[in-house]
Amino acid sequence: MHNEVTSATFNPYHMAVQQFELAAEKLGLSEDMREILRKPKRELIVNFPVRLDSGRIHTFTGYRVQHNVNRGPAKGGIRYGPDVTLDEVKALAMWMTWKCAVVGIPFGGAKGGVLCDPKKMTSAELERMTRRYATEISIVIGPHSDIPAPDVNTNPQVMAWMMDTFSMHEGFSIPAVVTGKPLSIGGSEGRNDATARGVLFVTRQAAKRIGMPLRGARVSIQGYGNAGGIAARLFHNEGCRIVAVSDTRGAIYNESGLDPASVLRHKQETGTVMGFPRAHPLRVSDVLEVPCDILIPAAVEGVITAANAERVQARIIAEAANGPTTPEADKILFERDHLVIPDILANAGGVTVSYFEWVQDLQSFFWGVEEITRKLEVIMNRAFDAVAELADKYHCELRLAANMLAISRVAEATQIRGIYP
Ligand code: NAD
Repeated sequence: MHNEVTSATFNPYHMAVQQFELAAEKLGLSEDMREILRKPKRELIVNFPVRLDSGRIHTFTGYRVQHNVNRGPAKGGIRYGPDVTLDEVKALAMWMTWKCAVVGIPFGGAKGGVLCDPKKMTSAELERMTRRYATEISIVIGPHSDIPAPDVNTNPQVMAWMMDTFSMHEGFSIPAVVTGKPLSIGGSEGRNDATARGVLFVTRQAAKRIGMPLRGARVSIQGYGNAGGIAARLFHNEGCRIVAVSDTRGAIYNESGLDPASVLRHKQETGTVMGFPRAHPLRVSDVLEVPCDILIPAAVEGVITAANAERVQARIIAEAANGPTTPEADKILFERDHLVIPDILANAGGVTVSYFEWVQDLQSFFWGVEEITRKLEVIMNRAFDAVAELADKYHCELRLAANMLAISRVAEATQIRGIYP
């Protein structure tokens, strides 16, 4: 195991554009169409004051970016964090456009974020910041224009505050303005698990493709939040052995398998997976390099790079996180015969059940969890098959195939709608 990967020069938007260009080239997309698709349609920056519990006022910076809305309203999560940048939000918005297209749901792509340190804020401060941010971006969001959802460091409670704020301004409840809400105010059954469940569905397909049994497979997971923590539980229930998990503080390893429920309890009690009994501590980056069959990056962008890709041991890399693998690392992994299930496919279960939530809110008619899981599985499997078929046809990696499929769908919609005026 080696030193931590630095990401000093890493720019997610440059990476997203680079991935786009590769697919556009392979598709033979016209330069006019490339020019339309490589830039976000709309970028909103807001600076807004919030009163802290101390009585002092802090001015926060927030973003909302809509990349493309030709296939439907913009859709994408809201991220809180001390490293949020406009370029990161632009990249994530572009990936959302491709993600919705690859699974064939009628949304365009968006993303939002607020530069803040949520771990150092009280719940009351987070609520005031959320309500003011929701107000600031209310000029571009709405149930038919742009629908936010949770992402890193935001959760159903944050979505509830956003929905309530937007509804207060309108004078009546508008649940369909955000997804990932608590069930009691129009959330959907199955939304909490959806991202991880989608990762499981496509990993099953990928394992079948290479003839690898899931039962007994060793799994390593970076990040133990909504995506990673729930993936640990679902893969464990599937008969996999969770050998390593990590969070911002470090990683833990046990060759004979960790019990995800006990790890979660430990994290809830202590704030970290570190210090979990019956496990060896490792450094954060080691979780990517431990001996395992399936690696699930479920934290942040740019963690698998040219500097560490050769040390990745997993046969399948299922990208629960957005943008965890750089294009240089992609090349190395493809040459070394690792199967990477790209983010826009692997983690699309979240936005798919968000789409179900939005549909249920609009029709005020709610479905049971079995129906949701069944519909999600159909969509994920269909998307995986379409991507795999294209990868076989072009003898390319799944990421390029997924991007080609998605970009061709968005380009077709853009072409057929025509240029206004
Ligand atoms: P979360 O806030 O619930 O959890 C994030 C986890 O990652 C935490 O355990 C945190 O400690 C860990 N983490 C953060 N920075 C890290 C770092 N530098 N190294 C190691 N661990 C780190 O967030 P989430 O919703 O689980 O999102 C995780 C990833 O999955 C993000 O890339 C997000 O965009 C993507 N994703 C989430 C959803 C969803 O529905 N929540 C859907 C699609 C994609």
